[in-house]
Amino acid sequence: MKPRPHADDPIANPGFETLCAHFGEDPTSQFGAASVPIYQTSTFIYPDAEAFEARRAPDTPHYDYTRGGNPTAAVLEAKLARLERGAWAESFGSGMGAISAAINLAVRSEAHVVCVGNVYSPTSAYLRHLERFGVRTTFVRELDPQAFIDAITPATRLMYLESPTTGLFEILDVRAITPVCRERGILTIFDNSCVSSLFQSPLEMGCDLVVHSATKYIGGHSDVVAGVVVGRDERLRDRLFREIELCGATLDPFGAWLLIRGLRTLALRMRHHEQAALAVARMLAGHPAVRAVHHPGLESHPQHALARTQMSGFSSLFSFEPADQSREATLSFLNRLRLFRQGVSWGGHESLAIGGKLFGGPNPQSRVIRLHCGLESIPDLVADVAQALA
Ligand SMILES: *Cc1c(COP(=O)(O)O)cnc(C)c1O
Repeated sequence: MKPRPHADDPIANPGFETLCAHFGEDPTSQFGAASVPIYQTSTFIYPDAEAFEARRAPDTPHYDYTRGGNPTAAVLEAKLARLERGAWAESFGSGMGAISAAINLAVRSEAHVVCVGNVYSPTSAYLRHLERFGVRTTFVRELDPQAFIDAITPATRLMYLESPTTGLFEILDVRAITPVCRERGILTIFDNSCVSSLFQSPLEMGCDLVVHSATKYIGGHSDVVAGVVVGRDERLRDRLFREIELCGATLDPFGAWLLIRGLRTLALRMRHHEQAALAVARMLAGHPAVRAVHHPGLESHPQHALARTQMSGFSSLFSFEPADQSREATLSFLNRLRLFRQGVSWGGHESLAIGGKLFGGPNPQSRVIRLHCGLESIPDLVADVAQALA
């Protein structure tokens, strides 16, 4: 087993920002270093042959090889577990590393999976990739929780959820789905990347495992690719650890350090992202060149009330449908933007815009533009989008 870092709350009932700043750290054991040291090492040296032999004895905390654990990653994992209201966290070299390991621990050959229809597309590709082992997935397009429950079969081992989804920003009624899964022994995994631990707590809504692409908000500066799985049940951790050791999607120590640094400003950044996205969305909602805005924080969103019961805040991301649905109009809007750049991913300091087509919703196949509102000045972002639409 891995040693656990210092993990007491610094004060009673600490706030999110306080935990980001202090939890899991003990500078006095690190020569007073205010910044968590980067243990940039692959292997760990033992004082003698006896100690080396004894390392694997039960309940003996030790590091021996960074694929199985590293002290810098351990500080990150302690923080992420606490912030996500779990008991443990394991870090990965990418969000997909975390997602595939979590899915692998849940399924076996011939298993059945129920998955939200508009899931992050590489996740649906991974579930389809498992078809060669007889794993079958039902992708549920409706939002009614009963549709998820009706999709369960006796072979179902996994319920995979995401809310909001990242195209139409639809909200699932998570608390109506998880008790049924628990009763039937079906593992639930929730991708919380696009809301963050600050604004949504899937474990408290009854999910078993939470995954994040830490590349996005946790890193926050577009300079690291990483992932995390958080849970409460220790047996699930043991099973996940096997996936980590064998599949090897390990986060490197410097990546772990960048994420610790990212966490220090996560709450500040999320609040700016929230305000920026709401300001841009409100401007778009009243603009004649816009047909629809898909932002769960707007009162006009069909599931705004449900969103309010599950989320304590909103993120940088939303989408809108331009009134002029021609390809030329979309491209020229994107090309006129000066602050919003074009590129995949999101969650960094820089605003991003991409064009695509919707799969479902009231206007399927319509052209949609997804915006990530970054850390630039909010009036500048609103003005940039307005001038590009004009
Ligand atoms: C980006 C993303 C992932 C995958 O994470 P990587 O770090 O790119 O592997 C998973 N889920 C969501 C919702 C994402 O946006």
